[in-house]
Amino acid sequence: MFNNLSDKLDKALHVLKGHGSITEVNVAETLKEVRRALLDADVNFKIAKQFTNTVKEKALGQNVLTTLQPGQLMVKIVKDELTELMGGDAEGLNLSGAPSVILMSGLQGSGKTTFSGKLANYLKNKKTKKPLLVACDVYRPAAIDQLHVVGEQIGVEVFSDRGNTDPVAISQAGIAHAKANGHNVVIIDTAGRLAVDEAMMTEISNIHKAIQPQETLFVVDSMTGQDAVNTAKAFNDVLNFDGVILTKLDGDTRGGAAISIKSVVNKPIKFIGTGEKMEAIDVFYPSRMADRILGMGDVVSLVERAQEQFDEQEARKLQKKIAKNQFGFDDFLKQIQQIKKMGNMKDLIGMIPGAGKMMKDVDIDDDAFKGIEAIIHSMTPDERSNPSLMNASRKKRIAKGSGTSVQEVNQLLKQFTQMSKMMKMMQGGGGKRMMQMMKN
Ligand code: GDP
Repeated sequence: MFNNLSDKLDKALHVLKGHGSITEVNVAETLKEVRRALLDADVNFKIAKQFTNTVKEKALGQNVLTTLQPGQLMVKIVKDELTELMGGDAEGLNLSGAPSVILMSGLQGSGKTTFSGKLANYLKNKKTKKPLLVACDVYRPAAIDQLHVVGEQIGVEVFSDRGNTDPVAISQAGIAHAKANGHNVVIIDTAGRLAVDEAMMTEISNIHKAIQPQETLFVVDSMTGQDAVNTAKAFNDVLNFDGVILTKLDGDTRGGAAISIKSVVNKPIKFIGTGEKMEAIDVFYPSRMADRILGMGDVVSLVERAQEQFDEQEARKLQKKIAKNQFGFDDFLKQIQQIKKMGNMKDLIGMIPGAGKMMKDVDIDDDAFKGIEAIIHSMTPDERSNPSLMNASRKKRIAKGSGTSVQEVNQLLKQFTQMSKMMKMMQGGGGKRMMQMMKN
């Protein structure tokens, strides 16, 4: 995420980070570099200029050069301004209606349908919400099918009416269906076009007027840079929407949209999409995003993602197994699946302070666990629970079955043994000692 921008800002701020003496000249030079980095990231020209001007004013106002650690203070000012530019505090969804109606808008291909599913899944996992998805794209039957596939995948009901060509009527019927069936959130997926056109705007505006949603969200592909900002403006003029959803931030996004959109439409970015999977959704926190852009990582989000996947009951079962030396490859497989649910590997690594920068040129396969999973799947159930059963000929068979080599099988067995030992040690009081060490 934003590799290029992070890299350039890091270079621009290098001098200030204590790698040389700080003078008025190099502060000015730094700000010029910061501005260039923002422009390269496709940030609007005016916004980039205003940004550096504000940073400069603040630096002067706080007498940065006379402070003890001018570099750090400058970096802090840049971080605070970046946070402010992206929206200040995080803003949640208004879910006060009965049911709460959320209308999705945006161009075709922006990720509306995918995000509708992600949001439904996100709300469903909150336990108190029972969402209903409503398919209102009357032009593309495939879009209705796609929403049904998504709904099935996440276990959320989808309302559609294939013969009906009136999206206003479908959305109203969807809301009535929700009321009658105890759904407390309705997410309405609408039709998009490839570009902003009048017919689309009239249609979405008619739906909007008729159903008066609590939340109107505008979904935009962050890869489209300045275009994203222009489209946002066009939709906002018609809908006066409540929030922005930035999708495809997992790709090689330059970052311009994330940075500029708030100040152009004055609406908060509420969520981001970071992948094609249903779990790839994050609440947008401007301050955490600023940390990530400045290469400071985002440990809070990383821990939160881990917590979302954490199941207390499962953890207790696992603990007992470890204590009894019964931790097997099936358990290992479950752990891998949980990690995979946390998101794309490169994205996760980017959340560790400093690691994103170190690993930026390393190509991390999102299916890094594929080989391991194939090896485990090639083991018999007995072998999975009792790895010592695997002798040389069985290892050969497993390697063949999984399309790997005996060497790779051996390596996995070795790592597994080491990991089992370590887990046992952590249980025997070592874990507590380690926690204590971390606290100090
Ligand atoms: P719609 O036409 O607005 O409903 O867009 P779709 O939901 O059909 O998404 C268009 C394409 O973008 C699909 O191939 C999705 O899998 C993909 N997509 C959606 N959101 C994301 C995201 O956050 N990251 C990535 N990498 N792909 C996404």
